[in-house]
Amino acid sequence: MGKPTGFLEYQRVNNPASDPKERIRSFNEFHPALDPQQRRQQGARCMNCGVPFCQSAMKLGGSVSGCPLHNLIPEWNDEIFNGNWDHALARLLKTNNFPEFTGRVCPALCEAACTCGMNGDPITVRENELAIIESGYERAVIRPRPPAVRTDKRVAVIGSGPAGLAVADQLNRRGHQVTVYEKEDRPGGLLMYGIPNMKLDKTIVERRIRLMEAEGVRFITNTEAGVDVSAEELQKSYDAIVLCVGAGKPRDLALPGRDAEGVYFAVDYLKCATKALLDHIPAAINAKGKRVVVVGGGDTGNDCVGTALRQGCKSLIQLEMMPRPPLERRADNPWPQWPRVLKTDYGQQEAAAVFGKDPRIFETTVTELIKDEKGRLKGIKTVRLQGEPQKDGRMKMVPLPGSEKQIGCDLLLIAAGFLGPEEKIPSAFCLKTDPRSNIAADPAYCAGKKIFAAGDCRRGQSMVVWAIAEGRAAAKEVDRFLMGYTNMI
Ligand SMILES: Cc1cc2nc3c(=O)[nH]c(=O)nc-3n(C[C@H](O)[C@H](O)[C@H](O)COP(=O)(O)OP(=O)(O)OC[C@H]3O[C@@H](n4cnc5c(N)ncnc54)[C@H](O)[C@@H]3O)c2cc1C
Ligand code: SF4
Repeated sequence: MGKPTGFLEYQRVNNPASDPKERIRSFNEFHPALDPQQRRQQGARCMNCGVPFCQSAMKLGGSVSGCPLHNLIPEWNDEIFNGNWDHALARLLKTNNFPEFTGRVCPALCEAACTCGMNGDPITVRENELAIIESGYERAVIRPRPPAVRTDKRVAVIGSGPAGLAVADQLNRRGHQVTVYEKEDRPGGLLMYGIPNMKLDKTIVERRIRLMEAEGVRFITNTEAGVDVSAEELQKSYDAIVLCVGAGKPRDLALPGRDAEGVYFAVDYLKCATKALLDHIPAAINAKGKRVVVVGGGDTGNDCVGTALRQGCKSLIQLEMMPRPPLERRADNPWPQWPRVLKTDYGQQEAAAVFGKDPRIFETTVTELIKDEKGRLKGIKTVRLQGEPQKDGRMKMVPLPGSEKQIGCDLLLIAAGFLGPEEKIPSAFCLKTDPRSNIAADPAYCAGKKIFAAGDCRRGQSMVVWAIAEGRAAAKEVDRFLMGYTNMI
């Protein structure tokens, strides 16, 4: 334990955020780091409580609380306080391949379970993690470290999101020869073409890819497995194949007028915005001057809000079917459960600063899309919803008669969730899917003869931290399959 009285002496201090009206002028990240002395104090706040739910990833009250990677949080908080940055980095990298990603975008399941959060503010675990890894890069402690010994085993990883990258990193470190196939023009999965640049700068993703290449991982982009390279070819050329193809099939809106021009899926829109930024080209889908409606009040919808603001939209509404959550934990949702409270994310804060109010309208959905004479979207019809208790105890949201409204809209972005991987992947590899249309795999991540699956394509749309955790666990099973034993952790 670094400083026994740290949690009594120091208040939580987050990395500052630039002014919302200023930061929407660019797609740059907007959280400058604390200075080293302040960071030491934030490390000192960890009381090493001895009951570190923060690193447990236990399912409590229906959701997981604590870090799915079981990051050794109290240990590296202590090292931060003592200024032992190399030790902190070594402990962090033991469990997390890519802290520069989780340190920026993780919802911090750890902080929800932090003992300091029982009576006050939790430790800044996520930002401490980010400070450790960025210090490692700044001081050039992170350098390519190719494995000393290579095996003769060849592994193909399909998909280069966080799950695929974690599988590739782990198996390459073990000495296997790893090739990653990616259908897009750049590797990174949703880290590259999903999560916007202001949340995760794309140079950070590229920095990690270059490091992995220097360590021996081969990336082949613009190549779709099952199309550009057949399943049979892959099976002939590799000793194991790991599918990390994500859950890219978006949930659609089956509504009258769905074919209107100006209706897009959120990820297509976000991808265009990032491509425009990286390739210095105009965005193929652009919110500039448009009345934008985002359907879906979750994180993806929030990223659309932040992106539309940066493109200069005229107005912005975000529709959410569910009721507004409470501001504080309810009595039936105590610590250390994941708090089911209202989260006002960066995009919603920015929209409030620009338009004077939170863009979200709760308990409301869209019922029809209205087109002009040229087939272009010009408005939508909405209806309010109310909860109706069902026989099984669940609440179903049903339309409230007489609450219909019409709203002007030129750009509708659908951020209504995902329905597992695209069907052509399991069918190309002759694999079974589970009842939620994800790739079915056994507890050892095995989905077929020498085929493994990990990440969102196996567990359904989730989070970066879970994708890394899945990638690490699957890599261990692949190593066991290839070698007949494994010492990987
Ligand atoms: C807009 C958005 C914002 C998000 N924000 C956050 C966040 O802030 N924090 C967080 O923790 N999580 C966030 N998530 C969720 C997180 O990004 C995912 O859970 C995570 O990326 C899943 O990782 P994955 O490797 O399983 O799949 P993905 O990241 O989806 O990667 C799959 C890759 O496989 C490739 N692929 C698919 N089929 C083939 C094929 N046949 N051949 C070759 N390549 C193929 C795809 O092109 C893609 O690059 C967000 C998701 C979205 C959509
Ligand atoms: S990966 Fe996420 S849950 Fe784990 S310690 Fe980091 S911020 Fe917390």
